[in-house]
Amino acid sequence: MIEFDIITIFPEIFKTYLSVGLIGKAIDKKLIKVNVHNLRDWTSDKRKTVDDRPFGGGFGMVMKIEPIYKAVSWIKKHSKTKKTKVLLFSPRGKKFNQKLASRLAKEKKLILICGRYEGVDERVAKYIADIELSIGDYVLMGGELPAMVVLETIARLIPGVLGKKELLKERVTKDKGFIEYPQYTRPEIFEPEKGVKWRVPKVLLSGNHKKIEEWREKHKKIIGC
Ligand code: SAH
Repeated sequence: MIEFDIITIFPEIFKTYLSVGLIGKAIDKKLIKVNVHNLRDWTSDKRKTVDDRPFGGGFGMVMKIEPIYKAVSWIKKHSKTKKTKVLLFSPRGKKFNQKLASRLAKEKKLILICGRYEGVDERVAKYIADIELSIGDYVLMGGELPAMVVLETIARLIPGVLGKKELLKERVTKDKGFIEYPQYTRPEIFEPEKGVKWRVPKVLLSGNHKKIEEWREKHKKIIGC
């Protein structure tokens, strides 16, 4: 069981996402737990302000440290475990990959801070977060999609979430990469128009397991190392 605590100003984004598919099932089966927190609950002014103008001037607004500090402290105080990591999403962070997902899957609790606006007061990265994480070299509008990406990548590594445990194990390499190869299903021949045939590689239809293994080995890609 791993617990995710997501801090966001848009908690409603997560509702559908957390209720469908294998993530929904994993929550029902109590293999993972997800608590979504509204950052505005930790503001003290009437307008529930979470952002302010940047010191030094410049474009856009910056997320304030106080509500984030209060939210993280509250979550930690009410947590049953000390095995916690605080992640802050930022395009300037360490690049998230499969190997890092395997490491994080060993934690008991992950607190995910979703930025918005022009970013987050740098003191959050310096004093509150354990890891600053980027999901890729592009700039999004908020940390909510990165939170879903990280949650989903980690969740599928939790035993039982994908159903067949053995199969998952077989595809994880020693250094925690994940083996992916091309896959096909019926029909054997697909005809998008008359006279055009898109075929499945013959070897996959042969029933010869050794040959199939060799083909997969040749076409595999290791993700994340
Ligand atoms: N100028 C800001 C970018 C703000 S984007 C900066 O350099 O940090 C607003 C928020 O979206 C960020 O605070 C972060 O939480 C999230 N975000 C945007 N792109 C991201 C990425 N590639 N990976 C992770 N989080 C990202």
